[in-house]
Amino acid sequence: MTGFGSLMNRLRNFRHPRILVLMYHRIDDVEMDPWKIAVHPRHFEAQLQVLTKWNVIPASRIGDFNSKKSFRKPAVCITFDDGYRDNVENALPLLEKYECPASFFINTSYIGKQKEFWWDMLESIFLSDIPLPEKIELSHSGEKFEFDLGQDANMHAETMKAHTKDWIAWEKAPGQRHEIFYKVWDIFRKCPPFQRDSMAEQLLDYVANHYKPDQRRYPLTDAQFELLADHPLINIGAHTHSHPALPALNYTTAREEILLGKTNLEARMGKKVWNMSYPFGSYNKETLALLAELDIDQAFTTEAIPVEPHSHTLRLGRYQVMDLDGDAFEKQLQQWFLFRN
Ligand SMILES: [Zn+2]
Repeated sequence: MTGFGSLMNRLRNFRHPRILVLMYHRIDDVEMDPWKIAVHPRHFEAQLQVLTKWNVIPASRIGDFNSKKSFRKPAVCITFDDGYRDNVENALPLLEKYECPASFFINTSYIGKQKEFWWDMLESIFLSDIPLPEKIELSHSGEKFEFDLGQDANMHAETMKAHTKDWIAWEKAPGQRHEIFYKVWDIFRKCPPFQRDSMAEQLLDYVANHYKPDQRRYPLTDAQFELLADHPLINIGAHTHSHPALPALNYTTAREEILLGKTNLEARMGKKVWNMSYPFGSYNKETLALLAELDIDQAFTTEAIPVEPHSHTLRLGRYQVMDLDGDAFEKQLQQWFLFRN
């Protein structure tokens, strides 16, 4: 069987049409990446070359299963979450080169800001060699969180690098800093935004002069956002205002996060925002009801399943693409495509 040109696959695709939605975050050459969200620009180009054999469709064509022409070749849809500066610097020129449409789901509280996303800030503080106090205390609304860094309060740069280089955030932590990094991340994502911001300030007070943000992972500038907004290959969708886990918030706060994330984009672009992706892929019944109320027709999770004709349009699965070369990526795509429920 040679890839997807085979008759077998064409027949399979005709009878059981499915779309693979790919999820990217950063396109850059990075030293450490505990969330596995960065793809090297060279690998991204190799992946796009593989995708030229597929049918790359824009998000607006998902659900268009009646159009037989669309599904003569297996279909994929490319998406990016969060709105990193490197998306325009490194990904956009390649999307243009291979004429691939893509969707960008962007957090509106970060556009144009010279600062790290909150989860990247935690990485710069905990997964670096900056000196930390032995005890850190964060509090909000009468709730107190205490962290004991012990000997890991001070780490040598080389030791830290060695511990962190291949570490994946959801696996066993190699030390106190890594463990506390994950705990604080989990608290922050489940917090109402104003409480998370307040705790972020408390944390920054502990490291004031030592914190060195990594500018390569800053959010889009205003000009970069405008470039994307006017680009014929690009669809911009919502990703909330400040990236909380929506099911952890009460109704009013969840509604405000979704609404602000949508209306801020609409005000900037002068056009309707009709799709979004859920931060951390998480949603519940209340989230789905809010999306329907706020006139969002299409939403993506992070559940690794293909889109099929029966898929719920507010619960569309996506596959997180890893930093793979062209051959490994093609193998991975084929496995995803042949997945059976
Ligand atoms: Zn996100």
